[in-house]
Amino acid sequence: MAKSTGGYCSFCGRSGRDVRLLINGINGSICDECAQQAYEMVKEKFAESSSFTMSMSELPTPEDIKLFLDQYVIGQDAAKQYLAVAVYNHYKRLMQKVTADDVEIEKSNIILVGTTGTGKTLLARTIAKLLHVPFAIVDATVLTQAGYVGEDIESILTRLLQAADYDVEAAQRGIVFIDEIDKIARKGDNPSITRDVSGEGVQQGLLKLLEGSVVNVPPQGGRKHPEQKMIPVDTKNILFICGGAFDGIEKKIAQRLNTRVVGYSASLATSTVDRDNFLKYITPADLKAFGLIPEIIGRLPILTYLNPLDRTALRNILTEPKNSIIKQYVKLFEMDGVQLLFDEEVYEFIVDKALEFKLGARGLRSIVEAIMMDAMYTIPSQKDVKELHVTLDYAKEKFEKSDVNRLQFENA
Ligand code: ADP
Repeated sequence: MAKSTGGYCSFCGRSGRDVRLLINGINGSICDECAQQAYEMVKEKFAESSSFTMSMSELPTPEDIKLFLDQYVIGQDAAKQYLAVAVYNHYKRLMQKVTADDVEIEKSNIILVGTTGTGKTLLARTIAKLLHVPFAIVDATVLTQAGYVGEDIESILTRLLQAADYDVEAAQRGIVFIDEIDKIARKGDNPSITRDVSGEGVQQGLLKLLEGSVVNVPPQGGRKHPEQKMIPVDTKNILFICGGAFDGIEKKIAQRLNTRVVGYSASLATSTVDRDNFLKYITPADLKAFGLIPEIIGRLPILTYLNPLDRTALRNILTEPKNSIIKQYVKLFEMDGVQLLFDEEVYEFIVDKALEFKLGARGLRSIVEAIMMDAMYTIPSQKDVKELHVTLDYAKEKFEKSDVNRLQFENA
């Protein structure tokens, strides 16, 4: 094979001078454009014939999946268990060869309810890491009904296609995490009074995706490229995981529990209700009361919750996950030949600050960053330093020197 500008392309007949590149073979030549087209055809053909191949014995069991999640996510056992089972069943669906008389396993999309920063996205990301399937995160707040300013519902699938490198077949068995699903809840109780652009219309649009249908997806997304050719994507096997904080839903749960108490079996409910974590008792009815339409709720049959992160959880998040914040800093310093050590009290101090500023787990990183900034700046040029021991005094000094107000401001 040789590159040349002389000769003609054996496929389109153009001269080597009229194309960017002409590749010469033994008995003919091909130009760059024909080669590209040939490549697309081969890829398409290949994609048609490729299907999901995995046997039951290779499949990680729900317990395996949970153990994997445990390495990265602290606590949240209920959500982990639900996710593990859902993902296991998702795989079984993908492996199923449906014959006419077979029972077809239906898709079980998931909805995770929990305050912001408790690990919803982390759970979804970690699952995707285990599965090796294309994974996309989208934010429901940017979605609008077709014809309004914002992103069309189909853009969700554009992201997935991009994550799959435009391999449609792979995208069709991918996972989409739709964050902030609560933000498209219907605002008022009466849906018919006004058209609710950001709420019900979007939910209706989303329904089509969740149900499983063939959707025409703009490969570049958005409406800026009206000339782009749509790619049909079948959502039948795409697993949707939705997450939302559902601020204020606790009140609705409490109300419901309370009416039940008055109605019947009062003794059981009043004595056993965990008043610190009403989310535990969440049911589809509460999602409906919050403003999700029943059809959407029906398409998200697995409903689970995340616990608020308490002191112990925050403390563990600092050091326990496989790629915990502290482990990452240790690694960073190790690459400069410096051993980084922390006193236990420093961890407590970091957690105190995260709680004080109500920053949750997200704040842990900013606080550690504030403490370590000076050292990260100076140590690489101090070749004789081989160890850095972070004591409580050191941490306090560096933290107070840092722009603490900025952290407070960010949270406001
Ligand atoms: P959410 O999606 O619930 O708003 P995220 O999953 O984005 O929250 O969490 C924000 C960050 O906080 C994550 O990147 C992670 O570092 C940390 N985090 C939150 N919850 C946990 C948890 N349960 N275990 C480990 N890290 C967590």
